[in-house]
Amino acid sequence: MLSFVYDMLPSRVIFGVGCLGKLPEEIEHLGATRALVLSTPEQREQAAEIVQRLGSHAVGLFDRAVMHVPIEVAAAARDEARRSGADCCVAVGGGSTTGLAKAIALVSDLPILAIPTTYAGSEMTPIWGLTEDGSKKTGRDPRVLPKTVLYDPALTVSMPAMLSATSGMNSIAHCVEALYAKDANPIISMMAEEGIRALAKSLPVVVKEPGNLEARSDALYGAWLGGLSLGAVGMALHHKLCHTLGGAFNLPHAETHTVVLPHAAAYNAPTTPVAMSRIARALGAASAATGLYDLAAALDAPTSLAAIGMKAGDLDKAAEIAVQNPYHNPRPITRDGIRALLENAFQGRRPQDQASPAAVD
Ligand code: NAD
Repeated sequence: MLSFVYDMLPSRVIFGVGCLGKLPEEIEHLGATRALVLSTPEQREQAAEIVQRLGSHAVGLFDRAVMHVPIEVAAAARDEARRSGADCCVAVGGGSTTGLAKAIALVSDLPILAIPTTYAGSEMTPIWGLTEDGSKKTGRDPRVLPKTVLYDPALTVSMPAMLSATSGMNSIAHCVEALYAKDANPIISMMAEEGIRALAKSLPVVVKEPGNLEARSDALYGAWLGGLSLGAVGMALHHKLCHTLGGAFNLPHAETHTVVLPHAAAYNAPTTPVAMSRIARALGAASAATGLYDLAAALDAPTSLAAIGMKAGDLDKAAEIAVQNPYHNPRPITRDGIRALLENAFQGRRPQDQASPAAVD
């Protein structure tokens, strides 16, 4: 008999081209009147437009968000939130900006309204991260889950092709690991499979025609489902490896996910036939691992760790770190297994074609 636990996370989602226009009423819906707008320096202009849109309901713009939320930046943003008397944060950007809003919410309880402009999915999770002395700590806290999310596909049109591709693969990674999570449940699995399907169908169009709003909408819808999957169930080997590689070797986040994913899927394939079958089905591929690799290649995204700055001499150290702290994975983690996986990812080898797993349904 099927039995499972599913904790539904409360968040309000507004989706659709042009829904940014609803921002003022959504701030009101939160019961807030003093919004601090957050962005990266690169998206300052976009954030300034949002400040303008909010008029007297905006109390400032903090534009210093950077990848992995350095503790010094979090401290400065927290000071600014206090100083300005903000009663909510509006995060416009990718995971780095949402992450900064979460750092503020973690110590202040300020509600977050997120306006995602990448496919990272952080806006759907209660997961926060802070980096201190080169090491990133993460945790879960319901206070950091954005209360409202405005998904406006028009804001993703400016995403460069490479970021669109790798950020999309990052979101697919959330879906892939949700399908074999320790606490997987049929609701999230359904969303995860649909997320892969929507992203796999739309990303090839998005990278060729960045202004195609139908494809952009499908991709953002898939990214929403990826974020939901990440927020709802525990991740495994793939996310752990990417966290290790990003933290210890300063590899770029979305690119690392893109390169490692087919190899993590190949590693776990022998113990997760049903999940692999669903992933393959969603990709329209013969096998999950090769389908993921072929999708990344078709998007002109990087397919080797060497191409994104990893040094061959660091592979042993990466394997050591990755096996240090035990965590759940459907297939037992061995040092040799991880070292071989990393070698394949470093060289950018296409995972060997596997026999098509039994059909599900
Ligand atoms: P990012 O937020 O760092 O953005 C990358 C760059 O692209 C930035 O310069 C940004 O300003 C720019 N950018 C974003 N959207 C753009 C757009 N539409 N047009 C033009 N430029 C745009 O990248 P990311 O991949 O979204 O986020 C990565 C970070 O998010 C990592 O630190 C990762 O650990 C974190 N993350 C956290 C969670 C979570 O649940 N806590 C989930 C996913 C990612």
